[in-house]
Amino acid sequence: MSLSTSSSPPSKALRSICVFCGSSAGDSPAYRAASLSLADLIGQCQRSLVYGGADIGLMGALADRVLEHGAEVIGVIPQSLVEVEVAHAGLTSLHITDGMHERKAKMADISDAFVALPGGLGTLEELFEVMTWAQLGYHTKPIGLLNVNGYYDHLLSFLDNATQSGFMRTAHRDLLHVAADAEALIALLENATPLQDRKL
Ligand code: AMP
Repeated sequence: MSLSTSSSPPSKALRSICVFCGSSAGDSPAYRAASLSLADLIGQCQRSLVYGGADIGLMGALADRVLEHGAEVIGVIPQSLVEVEVAHAGLTSLHITDGMHERKAKMADISDAFVALPGGLGTLEELFEVMTWAQLGYHTKPIGLLNVNGYYDHLLSFLDNATQSGFMRTAHRDLLHVAADAEALIALLENATPLQDRKL
C-alpha cells in the first residue's frame, strides 16, 4: 500500500525524528493507532524516522506506516538483536552496531528530536538517557512523550514528585514535552526552546 504524501516540507529543525516505543503492541488498539498517527505526521512531511530497527510491536507498525508514505526510515540495531531475527528487512537503511550503547549514541546523533510512545523498560531507558544527556547539556534537541490514554500518568506524577522532593529542577522536568495526541506533540517540539539551566 502507498499512502499519498503532502508536499509540505518538514520544519528544518525537525527533519529527522527518533522514536522510542514498545517492542510489544500493548493491550489496547489505541497504542497502535497513536503510533500510526505519529507515523503519518512523519511520513506526510517526508521527515526521516530513526528508530530501533525491529519489525515487532509498535516499532514495526510505526516503521511500516512511515515507509508506506515513501519517507525514509533508518533503523539502528545491535548485532545481537539481528541474530535473533527481529530486524526489519524493508527499511531505507539499517545500521548494525556492536552493542546497545553504540546504538543509542548513533540514534541520538542522527536525529533532530526524540519522541517516546508507550513502551516498556527499553523505551523508558532510552527516554531517560536522552533527558539525562539534555540536562547535562550534551544536546539541545527537543524531547516529547506521547501520553496515549494516560499510559504515562503515573510516570509524570513521579517526575513531579522528584521535582518537589528536590531531586530534579523544574527546568529539567520541563525538558519533557507531553501531549495526548501526535499532532499536538509535534507542534510542541517544533516550538520548544533549548534549555538554559544546565545541571552542571
Ligand atoms: P521495550 O519498551 O522494552 O519494548 O523496548 C523497546 C525499545 O527498546 C525500542 O525503542 C528499541 O530501541 C529497544 N528494543 C527493545 N527490544 C527490542 C527488540 N526486540 N528489537 C529491537 N529493539 C528493541
